Amino acid sequence: MTDPSSVLLTGIGELVTNDPDRPGLLGLLADAAVVVEGSRVAWVGSARDAPAADTAYDAGGRAVLPGFVDSHSHLVFAGDRAAEFAARMTGEPYTAGGIRSTVAATRAATDEELTSHVAHLVAEMRRQGTTTVEIKSGYGLTVHDEARSLAIARQFTEETTFLGAHVVPAGTDPAAYVELVTGPMLAAAAPYARWIDAFCETGAFDADQARTVLDAGRQVGLRGRLHANQLGPGPGVQLACELGLVAVDHCTYLTDADVAALRDSGTVATLLPGVEFSTRQPFPDARRLLDAGVRIALASDCNPGSCYTSSIPFCIAMAVREMGLSPAEAVHAATRGGADALDRADVGRVTVGAAADLVLLDAPSHVHLAYRPGVPLVAGVWLGGRPA
Ligand SMILES: [Zn+2]
Repeated sequence: MTDPSSVLLTGIGELVTNDPDRPGLLGLLADAAVVVEGSRVAWVGSARDAPAADTAYDAGGRAVLPGFVDSHSHLVFAGDRAAEFAARMTGEPYTAGGIRSTVAATRAATDEELTSHVAHLVAEMRRQGTTTVEIKSGYGLTVHDEARSLAIARQFTEETTFLGAHVVPAGTDPAAYVELVTGPMLAAAAPYARWIDAFCETGAFDADQARTVLDAGRQVGLRGRLHANQLGPGPGVQLACELGLVAVDHCTYLTDADVAALRDSGTVATLLPGVEFSTRQPFPDARRLLDAGVRIALASDCNPGSCYTSSIPFCIAMAVREMGLSPAEAVHAATRGGADALDRADVGRVTVGAAADLVLLDAPSHVHLAYRPGVPLVAGVWLGGRPA
């Protein structure tokens, strides 16, 4: 007996399951089949053992992977900073100050303009295989603009993050701004947010301020994550580990003590190599983290200033070429790792009960994502059990 909405997916050249009960890091299956019922995976195994289903779909020998889980993006913004990028590529150093120009453009945009821009970027991500995306606020920096940024983000994902503590607005006293963020701004933003975040970096917020922001969020039910150790060594990674946060993001400059703290706390180090690419900074050492037993994720950090890519395949290729990862490790970090960084057990894997969010590659194996950088290999995306 089959569910009327069940689909048998066959002709899978290579299936990445990320199932720890199967061999290898990716739990690879050759000549695999998947049965989808409704929005969920109902069966995974060898094609010759596959049960019947209501309809069939032939993947034509393509590799099938879990949809990419992009656990770090800033999609709610207006304006463009291509000129700043071009200037930086002529040798001007990156500073966080450019955020303020995006803040001005975002405040001036209508809800409709912001919403349609997020829709455009989410569609762009989806075409490149991303099926779960986290979206932060952080370009409003007023009670009204942070709340509306999150209300817009919530139309596209459950994984929304309040980042009022992105940068102190020009002309504002930092202590007074932290009070605003943890008071009225948090109250207005919390109904639309699952997470709270702060940019813990020289020139943004120090460790005490970041701790104050994360504590305030926790008191209203938001879970913490943190931007840390992007531009230089700093206290953010240690703070994230001490607070037992699910993830700490960037992790470009780490001491041995930072690496040990990440290993001991189980906090996921989310690596964002598009930022290092777009700011000509040294890449984070992913090899060092994995060798120490730290869990890692790969994400885009799509934003108009430091990294305007929406492409997880590009991040995978960079992680392999520049950060010491094998193709399997990079794919794992962009799927299961992203799910870990969002504390999600239902995505980033192709296992019974998981969301049927799939990527079909015009390639026989996941290796091609790094082997053929820049090539549009994503041939199809399934979201919630159906081609998107
Ligand atoms: Zn970010």
